[in-house]
Amino acid sequence: MPAITPIGLRLGSLPVAVIGGGPVAARRARLLARAGAQITVIAPEVCEDMAELLRSLEFAHRTAGGEAPLWRARGFTPTDLDGVWMVAAATGNSEVDREVSELAHSLRVFCFKGGDAAGASAWAPALLSHGDTTIAVVSSGESGPRPTRTARLRDAIAGFLRARDSKLVDAGAVPYALPGELPAGPLTPATQGRVTLVGGGPGKTGLLTLDARDAIRSAQVLVIDRLAPRAVLGWVGPEVEVVDVGKSGGDHPVSQSEINAILVDRARTGKNVVRLKGGDPYVFGRGGEELDACRAAGVEVFVIPGVTSAVSVPAAAGIPVTHRGVSRGFTVLTAHSSLGRLPLAVDHTLVLLMGTAQLDSISHELIAQGNSPETPCALIEDGFGPRQRTTPATLGTLAETARAAGVRPPAITVVGEVTLRADVHADLHREVRLGVGA
Ligand code: SAH
Repeated sequence: MPAITPIGLRLGSLPVAVIGGGPVAARRARLLARAGAQITVIAPEVCEDMAELLRSLEFAHRTAGGEAPLWRARGFTPTDLDGVWMVAAATGNSEVDREVSELAHSLRVFCFKGGDAAGASAWAPALLSHGDTTIAVVSSGESGPRPTRTARLRDAIAGFLRARDSKLVDAGAVPYALPGELPAGPLTPATQGRVTLVGGGPGKTGLLTLDARDAIRSAQVLVIDRLAPRAVLGWVGPEVEVVDVGKSGGDHPVSQSEINAILVDRARTGKNVVRLKGGDPYVFGRGGEELDACRAAGVEVFVIPGVTSAVSVPAAAGIPVTHRGVSRGFTVLTAHSSLGRLPLAVDHTLVLLMGTAQLDSISHELIAQGNSPETPCALIEDGFGPRQRTTPATLGTLAETARAAGVRPPAITVVGEVTLRADVHADLHREVRLGVGA
């Protein structure tokens, strides 16, 4: 039997007490005030959040003829529970909270409790309001109220609804609401499929954006790349179709035109398709091509930018792509093709994605353009991954160093003085300057 019974309480105009003035008390007070209850806050001091809530309630309270103060600036006394229908004990002092909760129990008054809430008679839900409907997420009891988990689930539901409600997204006015609050409006499930091209960042789940997270959680079809943050596969339910189009260098199991066709076909069957890519969809991610393919097929398509590896992977190695007095800008290129004319690396950073096999010709080209063979470089493999490694080099020894170190994809090559800021560089350059060799 579940230990929790979700109920829609109608607390409108009923007196309730909030014991405590801190942020937790303020949250409970907000919950009760939103329900229209007549709150009285008992606390020697109140935090800014509570003060703001009290200010916002004051006017309505006075106009309704309320005379008793909303806030009694003192500690708890047992008479505070006289006549109340509900109480929140959140003083930050576990003894006082317990005293309140025990008294509430003996008076048969339901009680929220801060700190150790497991024994409380009421648990606060994570709420999601949509028009005149409220979704409340409450733990079902086995392992306590678990507020972080319920809030997460609430956020996931919000993301799911938002992504399915094309009216909300298309309106453009409030495309993404604050967690827990959906913009008002009718909930119309998407009848048409759609494709969202999502930048997944360099592979670390923490570097996904909140929009990316929401989109992934609402996907009905997830088309995922090898370099996308694969941990998200654990977020999707068994009903979600996962299409793994992981590509590795030189070996393309699923061609781009096949990927385009998958996106379009699934969307045409009415599915919410999320195309999750590594980094940013538009940085060597062929996002533009997928967008064009969807548009050409008349399929609705959205783009959620991501944290590109071109900037974040150097950062993981301690390298800022620009740095005052060292580098005034950066260029991101793929090592697969010829580079073209570039600013010299004395005050400019070059970030090369893909193709560590082409480093011979690239370093020759850069030296031929007037860069010193001593220009410091760094090869960074598997940024944010378990194999993350930075191998320092110079432009003259770049290819050789990569070979000797056995550099494997995914890897990024950074050329320029900023790479000296990577910790590993200090030793190499001391050796080079001493003439010991790279
Ligand atoms: N759209 C992606 C880039 C796709 S090209 C972005 O914006 O990041 C793929 C190349 O990105 C790889 O060959 C490698 O050079 C680089 N890359 C992506 N993730 C990486 C990681 N975690 N570590 C090192 N390089 C990475």
